[in-house]
Amino acid sequence: MSFPKKLVILGATGSIGTSTLRVIRKHPEKLKLIGISAYQSAEKLFSIAHDFKVSKIHLHQPSSKSIELPIGCELSHGNQGLLDLAACEEADIVLIAVVGAAGLAPTLSALQAGKDVVLANKESLVVGGELVMETARQNGARIIPADSEHNAVFQCLQGQPDNALESLALTASGGPFRDWPLDELPNASPKEALQHPNWDMGPKITVDSATMANKGLELIEAKWLFNLPADKLAVLIHPPSLVHAIVRFVDGCSFAQLSPPCMTFALQNALLFPERVSGVETGLDLSSAFELSFFPPDLQRYPCLKLAQDALKSGSTAPLVFNAANEMAVESFLSNRIGFAEISHIIDFTLNTFDHRKAETLEDLLALDHRARELAKQKVSQIA
Ligand code: MG
Repeated sequence: MSFPKKLVILGATGSIGTSTLRVIRKHPEKLKLIGISAYQSAEKLFSIAHDFKVSKIHLHQPSSKSIELPIGCELSHGNQGLLDLAACEEADIVLIAVVGAAGLAPTLSALQAGKDVVLANKESLVVGGELVMETARQNGARIIPADSEHNAVFQCLQGQPDNALESLALTASGGPFRDWPLDELPNASPKEALQHPNWDMGPKITVDSATMANKGLELIEAKWLFNLPADKLAVLIHPPSLVHAIVRFVDGCSFAQLSPPCMTFALQNALLFPERVSGVETGLDLSSAFELSFFPPDLQRYPCLKLAQDALKSGSTAPLVFNAANEMAVESFLSNRIGFAEISHIIDFTLNTFDHRKAETLEDLLALDHRARELAKQKVSQIA
């Protein structure tokens, strides 16, 4: 592929979008930003458009303020505009950094257009894993993972034969409540849940790290990306967040990928793959001492992780329902409607009450997603 690669970012104003802009600023000869989208952060979106001279902008919810666009710039709104931007002819790479299940439709649109998709939205695979992987295969489109753990696995697998991978472990910091007394956890406040020890991320994923629902979603994502069954996918708590994943090959040898806990490492790798050029941040200092410790998670402390593992084993629509209920529960927790411990209760209730049935198309999946959310919402209103 010739440089600069033309890039579209869906979800440009969030934490992943912001880290990606740093990678583009560092390598303007390698990456040219041509399209961006945001849900409703109009001012931030238009400021990026001016800074990077972007030609296509999608603001999902039209803004009431009149803002001057760069000359020759196209502006779109609504669902179809987002799908069109994901498939836009000029793009070489589409980075999907939309939050939540809303990422599924644009991911499919980009893959159908044969784009290289750099995937930072885990829900696309959690909700529609089979459909997403099949759409990529049919259209000869690549999915390159941008999530730090999956990108670590992706890096470890380069140059290895297809059947070499035996199992893998994703690492987790354990979040802010790793060392809290168990009986105090139900009283944890949104403010406390938002204090992540290592990573600087958006609020939804930070709460998901505190419950470890995030690692559960990542296990489901890994199943699809690396084609491994549930019993070959492990989680290890690794407080310093320096090792992002460990793979084990069939001969018993393991590889791990290490870098400081900052998203620019994984994003740059995914966007510039297979090139390696200097990074935005400094890597590990190999001349000074550092410790690496790993231990398995206590599932009593992290019931959301256990529920995700069970959903992964059940397959079918259980991962979709897990995700939908978790999104509703976290939203309710962040707005102080439910307590921290109730996040897992709502997911558990929704998974057990839902009428699971097969879904094959995007429309089926979105309809089930909607039903699961309604069920979770009912449970929230009983509690709140
Ligand atoms: Mg991650």
